[in-house]
Amino acid sequence: MPRLPSSENPVPFVDLAAHHRPLANEFCRKLAGLLTTSDFILGKEVSLFEEEFAAYIGVRYAIGVSNGTDALRMACELIDLRPGEEVLVPANTYIATAFGVTHAGGVPRFVDVLEDSFTIDPSKIEAAITRKTRAIMAVHLFGCPADMDPILDRARRRGLWVIEDAAQAHGALYRGKRVGGIGDIGCFSFYPSKNLGALGDGGMIVTNSSSLAEKARMLRNQGQRARYVHEIIGYNNRLDNVQAAFLRIKLKKLDEHNRMRQEAARHYRRELAGSEVKAPLVPPGRTHVYHIYSVLHPRRDAVREKLSEKGIACGMYYPIPIPFQESYRFLKHRKGDFPVTERLAKESLAIPIYPEIRPAQIHRIARIIRSAVSMRPQHSARSRAAPVTR
Ligand SMILES: *Cc1c(COP(=O)(O)O)cnc(C)c1O
Repeated sequence: MPRLPSSENPVPFVDLAAHHRPLANEFCRKLAGLLTTSDFILGKEVSLFEEEFAAYIGVRYAIGVSNGTDALRMACELIDLRPGEEVLVPANTYIATAFGVTHAGGVPRFVDVLEDSFTIDPSKIEAAITRKTRAIMAVHLFGCPADMDPILDRARRRGLWVIEDAAQAHGALYRGKRVGGIGDIGCFSFYPSKNLGALGDGGMIVTNSSSLAEKARMLRNQGQRARYVHEIIGYNNRLDNVQAAFLRIKLKKLDEHNRMRQEAARHYRRELAGSEVKAPLVPPGRTHVYHIYSVLHPRRDAVREKLSEKGIACGMYYPIPIPFQESYRFLKHRKGDFPVTERLAKESLAIPIYPEIRPAQIHRIARIIRSAVSMRPQHSARSRAAPVTR
């Protein structure tokens, strides 16, 4: 069978094999070294990575943990969240943001998001605050920083903590500061497909507070500061030394990889300009790192179908808003409670973006999208001809 020209090949949603290929030798050398030293648990690589990551984000302390979900739960424990107390969480985020609060015994109180940046709407925060509210969770969704100034301002005035979920935004900037280091506690995930990803699970807590850092170190390691002295109820929530070693190699490339994502986003914007799909906006004063490139269109499902026919992998972030998930049914939310989030669930479509994506692939994806949205919706002719029954 003749091979298809490369422009007709399928495009994956992310290409981790291509991403790791240039680093394979360095990974293997590192692993060989660790096999000799057997330095596996809270070893030297973990402390070096913590130092390097703290310096990169611009914070005093970084504590390597097991994954992003645990980091979020630990952040809630660090502020001594008590059973039933509330944390404001954007309605449009990955489920783990809310689970972190619930795992710590708290209750997520959902707040709708802004349509431009998909991040929490600061103007809706005040109305969501109750006597039980202890913290605001700011999620830098898709790699776009949330609007931190009004969030911090509101939090200071109401005596609330600010926790940042920066799991999708390693390296993103808000008014010149790296996200994660702006609020009281920042949480990161190193899930393999994140902008900075391990070869497995991993996470990080960052803070400028020495007491919070000390407590985080105890929480992640069975509640102990000194061996076999367990001061608090802790967990096994440690970052693997092997993963830390891989992450140190990848941290050196993070800025370059983010620049490649930004270049891909520029291509998409240019290629989609003038079409009916809405490309993501970057509000002034922020640097987006494009973990996800999500566009909006009222006929999202038709566009998605066209792309998948042509072998283009797409995603939806997120198809069922968290307040309407079965797991949070007990909060009794109703349709219409989160109008922007609900519309995003129907209209947003994430198209492939990763550092290695090529301009020809972007060109082809944009061409398919443009032709899909310029086509008349298939039901319109019929619905116009049908008698009006109301
Ligand atoms: C990935 C992610 C998490 C969870 O991180 P894990 O390492 O998978 O546990 C939390 N919040 C957001 C926004 C994420 O994207």
